[in-house]
Amino acid sequence: MAIAATLGFPRMGPRRELKRALESFWQGKSTEAELLTAAADIKRLRWQLQREAGIDWIPSNDFSLYDHVLDMAVLFDAVPDRFRGMPEGSLVQYFAMARGTDGTSALEMTKWFDTNYHYLVPEFSAQQNFSMRVNKPLAEYLEARQLGIETVPVLLGPISFLRLGKVREQSIEPLSLLPRLLPAYIELLTALHEAGSQWVQIDEPCLVLDLTDAERTSLREAYENIAAQSVPKIMLATYFGSIADNLETALALPVQGLHVDLVRAPHQLDDLSRHGWPQDWRLSVGVIDGRNVWRADMSEALAQVERAVSIAGLGQVHVAPSCSLLHAPWDVELESDMQPEVKSWLAFAVQKLSELCVLKRGVNDGKDAISNHLAANRDARASRKASRRLHNPDVAKRLAQLESLPLARAAAFAERKSKQQEHLQLPSFPTTTIGSFPQTQHVRDMRAKWRKGQMSDAEYELFLQSEIRRWIAIQEELGLDVLVHGEFERTDMVEYFGEKLDGFLFTRHGWVQSYGSRCVKPPIIVGDVARPNPMTVSWTSYAQSLTTRPVKGMLTGPVTILQWSFVRDDLPRDEVCRQIALAIRDEVLDLEAAGIRVIQIDEPALREGLPLRRAEWDSYLDWAVRCFHIAASGVQDETQIHTHMCYAEFHDIMPAIQAMDADVISIETSRSHMELLQAFEAFHYTNDIGPGVYDIHSPRVPTVDEMAGLLRKAATVIHPAQLWVNPDCGLKTRGEAETLAALRAMVTAARQLRHEP
Ligand code: GLN
Ligand code: ZN
Repeated sequence: MAIAATLGFPRMGPRRELKRALESFWQGKSTEAELLTAAADIKRLRWQLQREAGIDWIPSNDFSLYDHVLDMAVLFDAVPDRFRGMPEGSLVQYFAMARGTDGTSALEMTKWFDTNYHYLVPEFSAQQNFSMRVNKPLAEYLEARQLGIETVPVLLGPISFLRLGKVREQSIEPLSLLPRLLPAYIELLTALHEAGSQWVQIDEPCLVLDLTDAERTSLREAYENIAAQSVPKIMLATYFGSIADNLETALALPVQGLHVDLVRAPHQLDDLSRHGWPQDWRLSVGVIDGRNVWRADMSEALAQVERAVSIAGLGQVHVAPSCSLLHAPWDVELESDMQPEVKSWLAFAVQKLSELCVLKRGVNDGKDAISNHLAANRDARASRKASRRLHNPDVAKRLAQLESLPLARAAAFAERKSKQQEHLQLPSFPTTTIGSFPQTQHVRDMRAKWRKGQMSDAEYELFLQSEIRRWIAIQEELGLDVLVHGEFERTDMVEYFGEKLDGFLFTRHGWVQSYGSRCVKPPIIVGDVARPNPMTVSWTSYAQSLTTRPVKGMLTGPVTILQWSFVRDDLPRDEVCRQIALAIRDEVLDLEAAGIRVIQIDEPALREGLPLRRAEWDSYLDWAVRCFHIAASGVQDETQIHTHMCYAEFHDIMPAIQAMDADVISIETSRSHMELLQAFEAFHYTNDIGPGVYDIHSPRVPTVDEMAGLLRKAATVIHPAQLWVNPDCGLKTRGEAETLAALRAMVTAARQLRHEP
């Protein structure tokens, strides 16, 4: 018989109980024992939910107090020296690695493949030794068994673990540490085996990336070494894409099963059947989307499972989500305000469990056994397809006319720059900020009051205007050159626009872990996106009415809105993005018509949208850049378009950044000491750049000298006439006093540079 499997489950609890427990512990309001009790409750709930739903393959060790990659680093004693003074193996040390302490910086954090989840980057050294410390996987396995639940420990595979890390001495490849890691890894597996674990799930998501021959050799070496010992059977899990050219390598490994993501890469079943399925291997088919919120097309999913059965045999098939459900919200039934019809279109993690179990029944007992479910599923899908929420004929019409829109600004950058300068009259090294100013408790309280109806729209508007007024005066006094209104009306740079646009849906409890205790609640793009009314014009024009200096209009770009939302699955992503781009274009043109001559379209998520495989980069970048043009290129030469991107590896996308042709791009560079600018230098980037001169993630106020130093350094790689002066990113998480001090010093630094030869 086929079984139902999950690869991992959300960690936060239905109401983000883990977040609360963690934050209260960090604030010293609760004890370690209380934190661990809260964690144990959540773990138990997750296991019980899965068992009650009928899941046969229930994971353990997919839970984490902060991050599963950090867990592996700690487990194998990959603890950098700066954390060594702390009690070994303690939570103090663990959270110091995750979050840093006063004197110690945390491990670096970066995106987990192409998701919005961030993992902590393991830091190795050339002398790195690995050994097994506190065995968390074993402890969790036994914890579940105590509750009468047999689980499958989930481990990050040795190759992915090393590949995701970095060695301090950059000349050394992380993979060269494999021979030292393997004994510890084998010790872990042996311990699990001795405790009675029959199977482990080893995640090697690196199998969906472009691998070198050396990496493939390491894979073979790792698993051959492991297989030579008495260890549990291994289900090798891949996700987020196709194994493609790594299939042969994977199928030759001495393991007993393979999980493939059929949502992202449905053609993989063809590849498997062509290649020949290894006898007796388990085939885990990811047919339920772990990365999105829509109810599955159950008959299509069932057909895929049946196909898998024809390849591997009924007794060898696992019906599974495409990847861990970590990336899905907990339970759509918590959405008590949501219309039942809309709810019937959605499946969060809990609903996905039932989908898996229904499919299991369908494949084991035949279609008839689940005919009610299939019918209900067909009805829900039909109701969604026919819903008026989805279709806006005007949007379709405008998309059809897109071909005739010019692909670029009318004039070349140099000509635009001189026309803009004629009326902007900016000094050299012009100063500006990235958009948001501190969202103080007061601002948040007022918004909460207004949301609860305790404050009228008019009162709230007056309050926001008073904040804008206060900050325009502050910026004038500081001597900034291009001002902003401060974004006080926005909680979040995507949510705000989603709420103003047609086609978006919001949840109350649809939280997804972003990192540690931090969660995001992405809006859901359900229908055609259109902009019924201007979204930002009144705030920006109000700000502009208060000053003779230019005020910059602030918008979130189409790719970022797409990337940070759950996107409808009935249209290609690029088409949804073009719809958003048209809506932003309307806003840009309205801002221009209202007299705003500098407009920033933020695209911090453009880099992270890059596909995992290089072969797919060009087509993504083509449409992403095209969407920026749709949004930005309708304006007059005299209107200055800015864009902003946070910290990213820019080398890979330089041609796209140049093709975007923003008049000014601001980027996060201070933490890399301007090293990121090298990408722009190497590419001979022609337009203006504002490399961030101070880190906004820390409350520390930088000195004038520091910032002037960074600017001088920038001026050695980029022509000074191209340079702007700004912080790394928005200031909304900072306090007011530190922000004023930092900006004052920043303006002074810019003035110093203006007077240097
Ligand atoms: N304009 C936004 C802000 O200042 C940009 C935020 C971001 O890049 N993530 O808050
Ligand atoms: Zn940013």
